[in-house]
Amino acid sequence: MGVGKPTGGRYIWRMTLDIHQFPCLQDNYGFLVRDTATGQVAAIDTPDAQEILRQLQQKGWTLDLILNTHWHPDHAGGNVALKTATGAHIFAPIGDQDKIEGVDRWLHDGDIISLGQSQFEVLHCPGHTHGHILYHAPQERLAFVGDVIFKMGCGRVFEGTMAEMHHSLQRIGALPPETTLYCAHEYSEANAAFACAYAPDDPAVQTSAEQIQATRAQGQPTVPTTVADEHAHNLFLRAKTVAEFTAVRQAKDAF
Ligand code: ZN
Ligand code: FE
Repeated sequence: MGVGKPTGGRYIWRMTLDIHQFPCLQDNYGFLVRDTATGQVAAIDTPDAQEILRQLQQKGWTLDLILNTHWHPDHAGGNVALKTATGAHIFAPIGDQDKIEGVDRWLHDGDIISLGQSQFEVLHCPGHTHGHILYHAPQERLAFVGDVIFKMGCGRVFEGTMAEMHHSLQRIGALPPETTLYCAHEYSEANAAFACAYAPDDPAVQTSAEQIQATRAQGQPTVPTTVADEHAHNLFLRAKTVAEFTAVRQAKDAF
């Protein structure tokens, strides 16, 4: 159950989420999220239905809800198989409407979703795809960010404009600095290699690159990250203007 915290004479209930992260496919992460107050479980994206079913079984959890961030097959490809196996409902971004199967509810920017007693706020962050959304749990200080931001990186701009992607990153940057960011891919080593080449004299970049190498050498994930860490070492988030962002993104695309 949640723990009551006195704030100015009132009690607010801080709910707790159990987050189970596991590797999927080549370099994706799967996430299962359980509301500890009610036992309700959501999958963030469906990279690999069989692997997600295996993980559910290992945890002894039952899937209630699937939350898609965007339409790409490594994020929504397991929707139908998982829904068939578990009866879970599927929520997905309205902007990717024509490309996602099995959806029960289409989500808009600002929508609030409940998982048991926990809540997620939907943030529309286009650029990688037209519809891409994040799931932000303000009380838990965490967000599932799909392919918008990665540790030291950001998603490729496939469908939207550079201005949209820049704005999407700035929205993430405006979240409280302690917010934990769950990225959908383990891309940190390649991102660090690019950042070191692009900003060879930047101490924050060099330090993070060394930490990432050490973590990966031990076979450990470098995800999640935090808003504060990305402000320090993410060249895409640090870009102040659309022009500056575009220059970094194009250099990475050509790297
Ligand atoms: Zn993607
Ligand atoms: Fe992806």
